[in-house]
Amino acid sequence: MVKAVVSPFEALGLSPALLRALDAMGYERPTEIQERVIPLLLADRDVIGQAQTGTGKTAAFGIPIVERSDPERAEVQALVLAPTRELAVQITQELRALAQFRPLAIATIYGGSSMRAQLDALARGAQVVVGTPGRILDHLGRGTLDLSRVRLLVLDEADRMLDMGFMPDVERILRRLPRDRQTALFSATVPLIIKRLALRYMRAPEHVAVRPEEPTVETVEQVYYEVAERDKLDGLCYVLDTEQPQQAIIFCHMQVTVDRVHRALVRRGYQAEALHGNLRQSQRERILHDFRTGKLPLLVATNVAARGLDIPAVSHVINYDIPEDAETYVHRIGRTARAGRPGKAITFVAEWDGEAWAAIRKLAGEAIREQRLPLYG
Ligand code: AMP
Repeated sequence: MVKAVVSPFEALGLSPALLRALDAMGYERPTEIQERVIPLLLADRDVIGQAQTGTGKTAAFGIPIVERSDPERAEVQALVLAPTRELAVQITQELRALAQFRPLAIATIYGGSSMRAQLDALARGAQVVVGTPGRILDHLGRGTLDLSRVRLLVLDEADRMLDMGFMPDVERILRRLPRDRQTALFSATVPLIIKRLALRYMRAPEHVAVRPEEPTVETVEQVYYEVAERDKLDGLCYVLDTEQPQQAIIFCHMQVTVDRVHRALVRRGYQAEALHGNLRQSQRERILHDFRTGKLPLLVATNVAARGLDIPAVSHVINYDIPEDAETYVHRIGRTARAGRPGKAITFVAEWDGEAWAAIRKLAGEAIREQRLPLYG
């Protein structure tokens, strides 16, 4: 007799619609935070999830939200609060992907974009709302958002909401929600103020902490090339052609370099986009969306892209220009080798980079191997 093979996600008791979506998304097995948090949330428990970006925390609450929201009921049943619109948009994308085989309406509510579109989305009857605290309060004040039937509240990146001064707004929203709801709070750190908040607004939460997957020499392969400034473009093309990265971020020091490298790559037939501080919000969102969903293989970026932005795991990080300091180097290579997957960090060291390079070597140690461009024989 043929025995049915139970996938690791099936073992969590998920519905066929979700299993199909996970399959389509290429998620084969739950990450640690997912394995530990999903059963608790499905069993109606409150949870404090101590986990950073890159651990799969979004699906850890996204899967229970999609599983437990009823498409037949035209009322907001789950609310996710996030500190920034960028994160709100990313959460929405993940929820939509998880709900691709379930007819759930998911609305995103954040400041700085058209109120009209958000009102329309709410009027059509969203079952799930993702938003930033300020704009959610706006809608509550106008009476355009009814949260009286919310059964599950998620506070994502609670420590960042605290840092950004959103806690009074968050508390105002909390007081407008039904008391007998379920609450999940995710935060990289759990300072005392957040513990107090949990004590006041949560029902005996279970604390689940997962270690951040620090990039280490075992999972990130680090190499450098000595390359003269004027040979960098050829060097980059050589690296791209030999490495064939599934997805890479190419970091440059200045915006003009980002534009120049981007144009040169496109001219040479590579599929690449440029990301820097001078783009319109809509352009940034489109580029990030294409990159996150894997449609875009190469992203050329200034350092801003490394800070604050949540860019998912990539197979390669290329420092076209040397990072300005050793901490930036370590932070950048943290963009690769997420969720236990291997990654590679490649750094170009040019003729004037001696000092910065010495500092990086001191911090990163001898793990960075030298490779040579064929150009130099
Ligand atoms: P997050 O920590 O939620 O920002 O997720 C980090 C990255 O891991 C995202 O790009 C997700 O798409 C991806 N991811 C989340 N869960 C899984 C999983 N079970 N298998 C593979 N990739 C995952």
